[in-house]
Order: sequence, then structure tokens, then C-alpha cells
Amino acid sequence: MTFEILQDSVIVAHKGSIAFFNQNLLTQDHITQSESKKTRRVFMQRFWLEVHDLDSIELKVEPEWVSLRSLIGSLSGEQLYPLFKSAHISYWLSKNHYCSCCGHTLRHEFEPVLKAVCVACSHQAYPKIQPCIIVAVNRGDQILLAKNAANKRDFYSLIAGFVEPGESLEQAVAREVLEETGLSIKQIEYLGSQPWPFPMNLMIGFKAEYASGDIELVDQELSDAQFFSSDQLPTLAPEGSIARRIIDHLLYGRSLEL
Ligand SMILES: [Zn+2]
Repeated sequence: MTFEILQDSVIVAHKGSIAFFNQNLLTQDHITQSESKKTRRVFMQRFWLEVHDLDSIELKVEPEWVSLRSLIGSLSGEQLYPLFKSAHISYWLSKNHYCSCCGHTLRHEFEPVLKAVCVACSHQAYPKIQPCIIVAVNRGDQILLAKNAANKRDFYSLIAGFVEPGESLEQAVAREVLEETGLSIKQIEYLGSQPWPFPMNLMIGFKAEYASGDIELVDQELSDAQFFSSDQLPTLAPEGSIARRIIDHLLYGRSLEL
């Protein structure tokens, strides 16, 4: 996969994978017949192609699917985030065919903003984004790292979790750390964020200071959690993730920018 291909290619997202097509490899008939004028405009911006149209596309080549996760760490944010956008929107479109109010068909509109409109009751739905907090807890020169029990890959990362209704981001940070490790924290500070379309998340990163308590894996979401020094770190979350960027930023002063 060469990065130059992004400059003149169409990106198709499908079930967590991405395929790149040189625009010349899509037939002009497809573009003019199966896409509305507005859809075509989005299409020509090279961001994404509506995923459930994929079977109807007449392609001159077979797509070569690439796991989106496999590209994280090797692309800059400028290169990666259009792909994230493709995956996020494709997932949302694939899950929004019928109205949640009356059950009739939703019509997807692309301009001036992307939304799904019910043909019967006019209910409107917009792409959903799930906010998740992720936090680095410091104790002296040590950092709290944890291993997720459900993660098949064997690495340590930061404490993370979904923001709940009626909760501020800071409250979500404190609750997640307490729920997952039994620790109380203080001095919660925002660091940065990252879209994370697996499938529809926005990761919102913080740092905090340890306040009190002993590590106790309360809700079994973690298989291990420990404070680590920079000279005895375990295998860490993949490069390119906000978890790894926060860890590298706090331990080595690296930039948070992807
Ligand atoms: Zn409806």
C-alpha cells in the first residue's frame, strides 16, 4: 500500500476494512447512473462510497481490502482521518435504513449536511458519535497502565470507557478509573482527542494525578493494572493510537499530534 494512492483514489469502507480505487478504474456509467448529483459530489471528493452500493459497482479490478487498524501507526493524521471518516460514515449508513420512530424507509441526504430523513414522518437522524474518555493516571514518575481482559492482543494501555448520559467528561474520567481500578484521582486535565471509528467513537484524552486507594480490579473489565516506570514498561498500545501518543507524550515529551 503506497500512500501516494490516496491522492487520486476513491476510498471504499466496508466492515472495518478499506479499499482504494484509482478513479479511472471505476466506470463512468456507475458514477453517472447510480449516484445522485449530490451523492456524486461527495463521491468525487474521494472520501468514501456508500458501502451497500458496492455490489452494484462495475469495477475493472477486484478490490484489495486492507484492515483499517493495520494502517494505524504508519499514516499521519492527515492521511488517516479521511479513512476514519469513510469507515465511520459507511458504518452509520449501513445501520440506518429504517426510521426509529415509525419504521418507514430513511432517505440519505448528503448536502448541506449528511443525515437520514424518514420518507413518512420526516424524522431526521444524524451520524452518531460515541464519546469515550481515555486517561493517563500519574503517581510520581510512574504511569498507570492496564490490560483489557477482552482484548486478544497482549498489550497494556490507558484506562478508557464510554461517557454516560448526564455526565461531564471529567466525571466520566473519575468514574471509569474508580470502577476499573478502585483508585481515586485528582487534577484531571484535557490533553487531546482522536476519532476512532471502531465503530463510531471519539476518544477524548486526559491526564490525572493519583489521589488515593489501592489497585483493585473491581469489575473484571481489566485482567491487570499496575503503575509502571519508564524503564520497566510492558508491551504498549500500538503507535498511532491516542493511548500510545499520550503515554509517549507524558514519558518522553513527544508531540501529541498524529
Ligand atoms: Zn418515520
